[in-house]
Amino acid sequence: KNLPRIETDRHALAVLIYMYLLYRHPLRGRKVHDVDPQRDEILTMGEKALFIEHPTDASNRPNLNDVKPSELPWADVEKIPYTVCGPYLKILFERAFIEGLHEPAKRPTADEWEQALIKTVDLMQPCQNPKCEQKWFVFDNTLKPVCPFCGTVYKGQLPVLNLYSARGKDNYLPDNYRIMVYSNQYLYAWHANRNVSPNEKLADIHKKPIGYFVFHQNKWVFVNQTLPKMKDLTEDKDVPINSMVEITDGKKLLLSDEDGGRLVLVQMVNG
Ligand SMILES: [Zn+2]
Repeated sequence: KNLPRIETDRHALAVLIYMYLLYRHPLRGRKVHDVDPQRDEILTMGEKALFIEHPTDASNRPNLNDVKPSELPWADVEKIPYTVCGPYLKILFERAFIEGLHEPAKRPTADEWEQALIKTVDLMQPCQNPKCEQKWFVFDNTLKPVCPFCGTVYKGQLPVLNLYSARGKDNYLPDNYRIMVYSNQYLYAWHANRNVSPNEKLADIHKKPIGYFVFHQNKWVFVNQTLPKMKDLTEDKDVPINSMVEITDGKKLLLSDEDGGRLVLVQMVNG
């Protein structure tokens, strides 16, 4: 008998996140292991478990003839693969349901899921197709933004922010953290400093936005609302509170000079 352990909790957490985001179960596909439904359920969830989206073994793909119309399009894994959740969650789903499905030590921790979900929110873009059923999508990090739900290609200039943070004086390292900008998007304290995290321990002073982006007179600008030491390093100018700075390709902006303070490198994507 399986007693609850941290590894089974990690499996359950991965299943919950997958179901919450994709409206389907990661292990319930077409495969039948036993004529006895109870025995089949135990095998499907346990020793014979196979990810419905396994890249090389397609034998457990959902059979679309068996699904209810209300379960579409989410039951269609070809149309909406788990990769629509973006690059950070993609890696964790693979560890949970491919590499770690029968090797519990490889399963992601709750903290890894939290970090990936936070970073994924910053890759969200509104779809430019007003008739799109999903309205928002996660940018896939490929520099060619396309809505995976309706196929609409992003048109126009789109700033992508690559975040670096200070580890000691003048030593900036990449955080593997990107932000896709959209108009009226806010930044928060956890964007300005890597030591701040938007979890249950977040202090009240860190809950207010630090500034926002807006597409203004055909230019992308950032309006600084609360950052006392913000600096435009490209122009070597301070960006005082309540002033704006234009966002252009290659621009370097320092959000905070504290330990863990972030430096932003702007990359312009032309859609
Ligand atoms: Zn769309």
